[in-house]
Amino acid sequence: MQHARLFLSPPHMSGREQLYIAEAFESNYIAPLGPMVEQFEQSIRDLTLIPNALALSSATAAIHLALRVLGVGAGDVVLASSFTFIGSIAPILYQNATPVFIDSDTQSWNIDPAILEKAIVSSPKKPKALILTHLYGQCADLNNIISICNTHGIALIEDAAESLGATYNGKQSGTFGDFGVYSFNGNKILTTSGGGMLVSPHKELIDKARFYSTQARDDAPYYEHTDYGYNYRMSNILAAIGVAQMEVLAERITERRQIFSWYREALKDISEITFMPELSETCGNRWLTTLIFEHSDPNNIRLALESENIESRPLWKPMHLQPLFKNAISFQNGTSEKLFEKGLCLPSGTQMSQEDVLRVCTTLKKALK
Ligand SMILES: *Cc1c(COP(=O)(O)O)cnc(C)c1O
Repeated sequence: MQHARLFLSPPHMSGREQLYIAEAFESNYIAPLGPMVEQFEQSIRDLTLIPNALALSSATAAIHLALRVLGVGAGDVVLASSFTFIGSIAPILYQNATPVFIDSDTQSWNIDPAILEKAIVSSPKKPKALILTHLYGQCADLNNIISICNTHGIALIEDAAESLGATYNGKQSGTFGDFGVYSFNGNKILTTSGGGMLVSPHKELIDKARFYSTQARDDAPYYEHTDYGYNYRMSNILAAIGVAQMEVLAERITERRQIFSWYREALKDISEITFMPELSETCGNRWLTTLIFEHSDPNNIRLALESENIESRPLWKPMHLQPLFKNAISFQNGTSEKLFEKGLCLPSGTQMSQEDVLRVCTTLKKALK
């Protein structure tokens, strides 16, 4: 008999979502905005201790608004992680700006500060912003990266889409920059089925982002526009799901970290395996357990897992290797290319039991032989 499919990262409801959705229905706040949106934003303010939060339709929309509000426009240079997901990068193109891609280091798998510095000093035009991804829920080398951004006067947007709840020196990821961005897409550690959140210590920037997120309506009884915006706000119904999800964030992080520990324990004798590292200053959320194989082809392992009804996935393909960016400038050191070539994401859904994890490991070990 075929086992039930093990997905990479399926949604995991807390059980209270429908209660809050029912509340939203009873209040008839079905249309965008309403009390649940405010509660959801409040839960993010409580977590991050950042006083300004804006619930949006996606993290991609949040990054777009951050760039727009920072005044990034045609021809501006925006630095970004090469080893990331396209949602982090596409907003640069929406603004007709030019992305410049920075490779990863081996200690964090995120942006390499030395490469970042090199990219800045060799850029003919001063970069306006850096979009820094905390990949797979693990924090980048924030201390060094922030000090470089400060030295050169470059705005920092933290793409914490995958790292909600991860901390660096005890402080939440997404709270170090001018903007932080979280995602509530279907496969993230928490989900509203789709959604995002933008936070910033700068109240005036969030106010401006809110203005752009609701079609840039001027203050008038009729529809008056001196600028254009977007329809990027989150609906009150989805925010109700978010309120319930935020109540279990701490549990979900504990569960993801437990799943990671089970994998590490079960695979510790396989010397060719290296797991994604964690900087000593940090506690990541281990959104996905990811690893690299020194010798074996991860594609064979992925297919062996698939034949046992287990979903796994290659690591993100670096942006500098994407056909879309074949002419883009990038600063490379070979790290993200090796990670893409050698890496695999394992199923990490928080409803997995230790037995499920061991089933993945048994299949994986068989494939290595
Ligand atoms: C998921 C993700 C995004 C985009 O989030 P959406 O809410 O789906 O728009 C951006 N960056 C990274 C690193 C992501 O993983």
